[in-house]
Amino acid sequence: MHRLQDIGRNQGKAIRLEPAPPLSYIGRFAPSPTGPLHLGSLYTALASYLDARHQNGLWLLRIDDADTPRNMPGAAERILDCLAAFGLHWDKEADYQSRHLSQYQHALAELRQQDAVYPCSCSRSSLAAAGPIYPGHCRLRPQQTDHPAALRVKAMPVCVEFCDGLQGAIRENIAEQHGDFVVLRKDGIVAYQLAVVVDDQRQAITHIVRGCDLLESTPKQIYLQKLLGFPEPNYLHVPVIVDRAGQKLSKQTRAEAVTATSPRQTLFMLLSLLGQNPPPTLKQAEIPAILDWAVAHWSPEPLRGVRSVRLDSPPSNQT
Ligand code: GLU
Ligand code: ZN
Repeated sequence: MHRLQDIGRNQGKAIRLEPAPPLSYIGRFAPSPTGPLHLGSLYTALASYLDARHQNGLWLLRIDDADTPRNMPGAAERILDCLAAFGLHWDKEADYQSRHLSQYQHALAELRQQDAVYPCSCSRSSLAAAGPIYPGHCRLRPQQTDHPAALRVKAMPVCVEFCDGLQGAIRENIAEQHGDFVVLRKDGIVAYQLAVVVDDQRQAITHIVRGCDLLESTPKQIYLQKLLGFPEPNYLHVPVIVDRAGQKLSKQTRAEAVTATSPRQTLFMLLSLLGQNPPPTLKQAEIPAILDWAVAHWSPEPLRGVRSVRLDSPPSNQT
């Protein structure tokens, strides 16, 4: 029997014989289609794209559309078009949470089997009165099967510790700092904390680059990963962009949708806000050239420890 090498040699062709090495970097951008991308979300998209491409990784796009009441018709298509207009091309086909609903049910079944969750039928007003950390009323209460209930995970008094690529070591006690948090909402929709953990595992994500607004969710997500036996990805939380009043740019603050009318200027500005110090000559360059420069020179270092950047002042410890 011929070995593959011999066949290759016999045909006088150099063929690649070794299997491709397993991918060591799979990143993603996971916008919620609650509206068009605004500058803050494009900033995060760009950071995760550059980090993935700089490390020769894959960059996947996932549309986080499980929270159906918040979806805006047409927003997903607009997001895809906007990313493409800015030259941020993703690998594989765009993924949609709504196509994987059964996987969330599997994870919930696993948590039920471990007795790690319990139904909570507390009213909105009693929850509001209880403050930010749920005091665990329903943990001991006999289940009221006739009431619509959310599912909460039992937060154990354990510390979750991780080292964020930019924000450093973070250590939080799940019971004390987070309490029993919701994994299935009363309206039957999977909660973001669980959905994201299942999605990142399904897509074999190894590196999560996202905004600091999600930093406080990360310990909860790691806690769920541990319960479900999922691997823990690397985390890197970039600053959020704030306006002059210090408010995070978001759909709630009516941040304007990004338009692709001057994508080169916008990219240049976002690179400055990412502390990348793009050379002024790049202002005249075409989008692929701007991105090539940015991928080659990417370093998140200037953002170390930075949680927010103001739209009108880049994080220029370099000025
Ligand atoms: N879909 C989430 C959002 O738009 C982001 C999920 C994530 O990056 O973990 O806020
Ligand atoms: Zn309750």
